[in-house]
Amino acid sequence: MTTPVETYRPEPRSLPAREAIPPRYTWDLTAICRDWDEWKRQYDEVNAAIDAFKSRQGTLSRGPAELLGAFRAMDAMGALSYRVWYFASLAYDQDQRNNEINARRQQVQILFAREQQAGAWFNPELLAMPLETVRGWLDSNDELAVYRFAIESLFHEQEHVLDEQGERLMSFAGRFNSVPHDSYAALTTADMKFPSITLAGGERVMLSYGQYRALLETNRKQEDRAAAYRAFHQSFADNQNTYAALYNGVLQRDWFHARARGYATTLDAALHGNSIPTSVVENLIAATRTGVAPLQRYHRLRRRVLGVETYRLFDLALPLVQHDARYPYDEVGDWVVDSVAPLGPAYQRQVGRAFRENWIDVYENAGKRSGAYSAPVYGAHPYMLLNYNETLDAVFTLAHEMGHSMHTLLSHESQPFVYAGYTIFVAEVPSTLNEALFLDLMLERATSREERAVLLQHAIDSIAGTFYTQVLFADFELQAHRLVEQDQPVTAETLNELYARLLREYYGDVIDEEPLSRVTWARIPHFFNSPYYVYQYATCFASTARLMQDLRAPATREQAVARYLSLLRAGGSDYPMTLLARAGVDLSRPETVSAVAAELDTLVGRLEHELAQL
Ligand SMILES: [Zn+2]
Repeated sequence: MTTPVETYRPEPRSLPAREAIPPRYTWDLTAICRDWDEWKRQYDEVNAAIDAFKSRQGTLSRGPAELLGAFRAMDAMGALSYRVWYFASLAYDQDQRNNEINARRQQVQILFAREQQAGAWFNPELLAMPLETVRGWLDSNDELAVYRFAIESLFHEQEHVLDEQGERLMSFAGRFNSVPHDSYAALTTADMKFPSITLAGGERVMLSYGQYRALLETNRKQEDRAAAYRAFHQSFADNQNTYAALYNGVLQRDWFHARARGYATTLDAALHGNSIPTSVVENLIAATRTGVAPLQRYHRLRRRVLGVETYRLFDLALPLVQHDARYPYDEVGDWVVDSVAPLGPAYQRQVGRAFRENWIDVYENAGKRSGAYSAPVYGAHPYMLLNYNETLDAVFTLAHEMGHSMHTLLSHESQPFVYAGYTIFVAEVPSTLNEALFLDLMLERATSREERAVLLQHAIDSIAGTFYTQVLFADFELQAHRLVEQDQPVTAETLNELYARLLREYYGDVIDEEPLSRVTWARIPHFFNSPYYVYQYATCFASTARLMQDLRAPATREQAVARYLSLLRAGGSDYPMTLLARAGVDLSRPETVSAVAAELDTLVGRLEHELAQL
């Protein structure tokens, strides 16, 4: 006798209690810890390991055995910490109203702070040894040689560390580092006065960030979108001199750090840690600028299809086709497995496990954390949190998080603990690649022109938004930093002019000018919080486009799959540029970046074709 499978679909606009959702749609955390008793035992074990690690202080220079012992102790402690942290943290995210679990989660955070303090001696003590001595040990001791990259990269980072007096001064100055972005945060959240507007239909709307975005994406009346856009940007224009002063603070701070530590430029300073040549960012920008034609082609198409006389930045988010298909989770799971067939049966089986073995927490429930993520639980397997609501976005989010999870899985099973994690510079490659494969499958299976058009627009918007917009941002940051590096003044007017020029250079005359668009820089939190960060989304996108070219072509597929899977298995065992080069991606070449423009051009051509026949 077979037990009937209990299916479940969420009711729109209702928020069930967690108990109402059948267990097969919730994750099973027992792969991390059987229960809270086991968790407590592991917690105590980490606690004891922290004390034991402290006693190793002062022993590293005795010889390779002591150094190896310390590395292994650190790994064991780290691996166990993953389980202790994620068991509490994932359980908390199921229902964040649970105070008892929240307390346990905070207990782990306190434990980690202790772990950090107890291990603070390690890097300075290792770095105090002559690199030649350590290299000699690495050459003569195979077990220690595993840690070669970890050690070499630590010494590499050390190149720009100052003498004791210098570091002391830097640590005093460090207290000012967060002032520009703390002030920015205060101005844009705590002290922000959101404007209100009256829509054409007489309705009054307060433009919070969420409301503003929703209005641009759904409101079919151009005058309403214009009113929202203008009111929203006017609130930034009203304080533009303050925003410019804060951004000047960011630029001056970055230039101070670069010069104090002996870097030629702020970009050099930002890229040194991951050992990325500055030519990668310069090439990204230059090659994207020569590849703006498909972006402009897309906007010309949008302008025509929307039938608007003027086409401005507030017309960019509106869907071209209305098609409200629902995608039940029970069907989509099989599609996600099918979509990765080009990566081979072994990879496909692993993806299937995620569904069968309850790695995914699918639906929203009362108290659950919002959004989506993939959690890399070392020693167990990756877990995925979703708030699956049957929309197209939710389907692609699932494919995206599955990409992260497979990266984690392959890296964890192939690498020693020390290299199991990977940097952001490669992290978004598998997630966007899984999305690209999924799109291919969905397009193949789509049954109507409307559905194909919606899918194509989804893919195009993600290239326009994730790739081109992020490169434009990177371009802005680089030019703004160069102003201070060349002793040029930074005022609201300089920044406005810079931004307006970039809009013209990327969009040409396809988008009509809108005076308030010049202040857009003031509302981009990344500029103030994490300079030289967003370009990595774009380089990941370019890497994926390049890899997909070889994966789609039958002649190159087999080799491309092997190279790609070895990139995932490599985890963080080398610098990202080296790992990507081994997978066949050279980000210093213009062709790699122009793969995105080529992909966009193909997609826009297909969309034009579908729309012409609707
Ligand atoms: Zn991601």
